[in-house]
Amino acid sequence: MVESSEYPKIRQWIFEACQANGVPSLAQEIRIELNNRLTDTFGMAKYRDTKLTIATKIWALANEQQKKQMIMHEACHHVVFLKYRGARAHGKEWRWAMERVGLRANRCHDVDIRPLRKQQKRKRFIFNCPCQQYIIGINLATKMFNGQKRICTKCKKELTYFGKVDYSGTIQPT
Ligand SMILES: [Zn+2]
Ligand SMILES: [Zn+2]
Repeated sequence: MVESSEYPKIRQWIFEACQANGVPSLAQEIRIELNNRLTDTFGMAKYRDTKLTIATKIWALANEQQKKQMIMHEACHHVVFLKYRGARAHGKEWRWAMERVGLRANRCHDVDIRPLRKQQKRKRFIFNCPCQQYIIGINLATKMFNGQKRICTKCKKELTYFGKVDYSGTIQPT
């Protein structure tokens, strides 16, 4: 999660990025959105509704510098979209914007997300038949979600999806 005590700091970083690029009023328009599932990317700039999306799972693993780098990276995408609509996402206009705030124009974050990968591997799914419950790994579960049928060895009835086992081992019906 993003602690509520972190919001003033985030807003300040957004403001600094906008101000350094001559568009301080843009900062108030940028809305912060949290995404609790996203792990492919640390942040996203959504232009249509001027949102800055934070992947909270990666946020939880990031240090202050990495958080600041990501927030300003995404804020600079919004700056570029406002000032040079149609410019390439990580093109020269964006690199200039990052230089103006005094940050490296890195395309990718450097947060160590190995703890998330381990958790994903451990992910288990629960399938039920009329007589028992099956805990199934992600590979087979993916095939079953895609239509592969499995039959209970005892009652010979088809297994149906029930829910996920979360990282702490708790069963979550979905
Ligand atoms: Zn980017
Ligand atoms: Zn059965």
